[in-house]
Amino acid sequence: MGIAISPFQIDPRVADYIDKPRKMLINGKWVNAASGKTFPSYNPATGEVLAQVAEADREDINQAVKAARKAFDQGPWRRMTASERGRLVWKLADLLDKNIEEFAYLESLDNGKPLTIAKAADVPLTVDLFRYMAGWATKIEGNTIPISVPYTPGAKYLAYTLKEPVGVVGQIIPWNFPLLMAAWKLGPALATGCTVVLKPAEQTPLSALRLGELIMEAGFPDGVVNIVPGYGETAGAALAAHPDVDKIAFTGSTEVGKLIVHAATGNLKKVSLELGGKSPNVVFKDADLDAAIPGSASAIFFNHGQCCCAGSRLYVEKPIFDRVVEGVAEHAKKIKVGAGLDPETQMGPLVSEEQLNRVCSYLESGFSQGATALSGGHKAADKGYFVEPTVLVNTREDMKVVQEEIFGPVVTAMPFEDPEEIVLRSNDSDYGLAAAVWTRDISKAHRMAEHLRAGTVWINCYNIFDAALPFGGYKQSGWGREMGHDVLQLYTQTKAVCTRLA
Ligand code: ADP
Repeated sequence: MGIAISPFQIDPRVADYIDKPRKMLINGKWVNAASGKTFPSYNPATGEVLAQVAEADREDINQAVKAARKAFDQGPWRRMTASERGRLVWKLADLLDKNIEEFAYLESLDNGKPLTIAKAADVPLTVDLFRYMAGWATKIEGNTIPISVPYTPGAKYLAYTLKEPVGVVGQIIPWNFPLLMAAWKLGPALATGCTVVLKPAEQTPLSALRLGELIMEAGFPDGVVNIVPGYGETAGAALAAHPDVDKIAFTGSTEVGKLIVHAATGNLKKVSLELGGKSPNVVFKDADLDAAIPGSASAIFFNHGQCCCAGSRLYVEKPIFDRVVEGVAEHAKKIKVGAGLDPETQMGPLVSEEQLNRVCSYLESGFSQGATALSGGHKAADKGYFVEPTVLVNTREDMKVVQEEIFGPVVTAMPFEDPEEIVLRSNDSDYGLAAAVWTRDISKAHRMAEHLRAGTVWINCYNIFDAALPFGGYKQSGWGREMGHDVLQLYTQTKAVCTRLA
């Protein structure tokens, strides 16, 4: 239990921000919950309360949806040109770019991730996503369509399609990349001209709320973006079921994704889902091991394993199994675990006590079924939500730790004999979010890419994300794609217009 959580001085802007209870954003105003209630957000490095936040419930969701509905149906937003809309999204990116330090700080404090990572990855990726989506605002186009209509011989028509915004969108996001997940959802909604009610995760509401301030500063009209922090079972469920919401976009667990689908049936709102994963990471004996070993460690340990696409099933070709797995375990042992604000920290705490207990119970389950740890295997401190980076061997496909998503820094390693067998084993999962292959044989790599049933396949790399690259799941990992131009499909609908000319 060797982790010392020394008190790090909090950035004064952030200290000031979290000093007062944070309000929610409805119709361009910062307001308290209708009930007057607040809920705590915790510092995962200490387990202490970090900030109090207004707690949205059904009544606040009603108000937020009403504002978003009005902004969509009657507000200036619909009358803006695509170029004006794009410029607002770009301006938001510029404002965020100026405040990278502050946002990184807030993200690190609320989520637990290392400040260095938030500064290098989370916030710059968010800026980039908004800029990428700003460019799309002016490029959302329909088609002109030559129609024949056999039952009106000789008639002439002009037929075309319009791509229109889907309307009021409810967006429910998770806690693992709080700011970036808000951007993945807000960027395409704003580029296409939708209005939004965004519910951040109850564990990490702060960066989305601060982003709301920048949204207002950028000049988005009132009601275009409403931000309503609260619990999933209350605020989230009310949003998913709301009859005036046209679409719900959700990122989170597969279990809750199914609840969202049920809740959406009332008005048959459109649903897009980015859900869990149990991604296979396959290392062949002809791989460049100097890249594959650290790459496989980072595939699972990045963001403390709290990535839906984490490379949590490591499959290694038999002749190199020991070398690779011991190499990954060596990396795990050297990872400096500590508070996110410590500049030395490479891995912070898990996000919550619930998550800590969940990961520890998976470890116990693995050990009770015969798995052994080459590194880690335990809680890593008395205070805060720390878990040791863990490599489990002696695992079998029927174990819970191999089948289920742990969402923590725990990888299960298993040997394999040949490429055909490994395709079957990789695909033997309810999930299909991501997969990776490490090999120097380019034909084998692309054959594997073809046969792996996953929304993303990385070859000789892992966790490579870009605003232009679509991301989403096969099978129970989701419906639809985030990012790239694919995501625009989720926020637009097609209207066919047909004119008789002669
Ligand atoms: P995790 O289990 O990792 O916390 P969840 O899927 O429970 O992930 O949470 C992701 C998001 O879904 C959070 O914003 C959470 O508040 C929300 N959520 C949880 N339960 C529900 C629900 N029943 N209806 C709508 N949203 C929910």
